[in-house]
Amino acid sequence: MPATKKSFSGFGSTAIHAGHETGENYAHLTPIYANSTYVFDTAEQGMKRFKGEEDGYIYSRWGTPNFTEAENKISALESFGIVKNNQPLQLKTILHSSGMAAISTLMLATLKPGDKVLSHYSLYGGTQEFLNIILDSLNIESVIADLRDISVVKSILENDPAIKLVYLETPANPTIQCVDIEAISSIAKQKNKLVAVDNTFCTPYLQQPFRSEVDFVIHSTTKFLNGHGSAIGGALVGRDLDFMKTKVTKTHRLLGGNSNGFDAFLLVQGIKTLELRMQRHCSNAFLVADFLNNHPQVAKVNYPGLESHPDHEVAIKQMKHPGPMLSFELTGGLEAGKKFIDHLEMCVRAVSLGTCDTLISHPASMTHYGVPKEDREKYGITDGLIRMSVGIENSEDIINDLDQALQSN
Ligand SMILES: *Cc1c(COP(=O)(O)O)cnc(C)c1O
Repeated sequence: MPATKKSFSGFGSTAIHAGHETGENYAHLTPIYANSTYVFDTAEQGMKRFKGEEDGYIYSRWGTPNFTEAENKISALESFGIVKNNQPLQLKTILHSSGMAAISTLMLATLKPGDKVLSHYSLYGGTQEFLNIILDSLNIESVIADLRDISVVKSILENDPAIKLVYLETPANPTIQCVDIEAISSIAKQKNKLVAVDNTFCTPYLQQPFRSEVDFVIHSTTKFLNGHGSAIGGALVGRDLDFMKTKVTKTHRLLGGNSNGFDAFLLVQGIKTLELRMQRHCSNAFLVADFLNNHPQVAKVNYPGLESHPDHEVAIKQMKHPGPMLSFELTGGLEAGKKFIDHLEMCVRAVSLGTCDTLISHPASMTHYGVPKEDREKYGITDGLIRMSVGIENSEDIINDLDQALQSN
């Protein structure tokens, strides 16, 4: 008989086994479902499936066994070890074609014209543009403030009843600023607002927003969850199961941002090593931050593990470890930054993050190119800022590569 155990005391075992259902051929891994549609035995059965009276797949935009496995794995990890009202927390995840698709579903399922979103500086570039271009055109305004100041959160929520959703990203891209999930969500809940957290940089291994009263967690699974840079994907996780099964599922199906069998298969395999990879990403990042922080050509390091980081306290309160992401500025500014990037021999010059390889990018000319310079600088994204997703290579190779590239200046 195939294994059937469903709950585990360790996060790593959960990442490996949760969500897997043995199929009729007892394949060890769920095979890739490459079909677009599913067959009914009878008209009656088709009718029952559409009505939701019988479980079963109908059409691959709506779901496949590969999506279900990834969704149940992510739900198990985001709820791992969380007990609410003496019951293990139940979550529902909907897999998407990308992180942006998950964000689109979230926004369009929860907001209508006249509503407002409260968010903070220095969001993922695509999210910021989504707020500015798509939501703005639907007459959904975003209020952007420094939510690290809790008195600001209080006063905005008290004075602006049109705010429906509080949207957080912590740590935020690419300045690694952190906001206090617990403090903000408890104020938001008193005012009956919805709260969503983009947990892409942390993954549930480092941070579980559902420990606080948040309603939704978003992931770009493209990053650490997949972990190998082999597929684009996104996840929208929610705690209100009825709302997730009705309005959110409907919105997702109609917007059409579904994943596919191959990408979902790659995601499931990637998640199995999440715990081990995150441990290595994090221990390497700690050493890299220390190296850069002590280097004479480095003007500033943004890494929440450093006591000098303005959000150090919040980061260590809500994260298991300061994480794998950091950014820094060279004393020589933009020109020195370009020279440094061009001289890297092992670290990869690319946007994105969360792969086994160390990735280095230049936000001002790449990920945040679409954000006006004036806004960028207000958010701390200066022309000379360099962002690093520290990989799982051996730390001495990463540091040696940075060292030799810095010597080019
Ligand atoms: C990459 C990313 C996104 C967008 O995800 P895609 O999979 O590229 O659509 C959203 N938020 C954060 C924090 C990201 O890093």
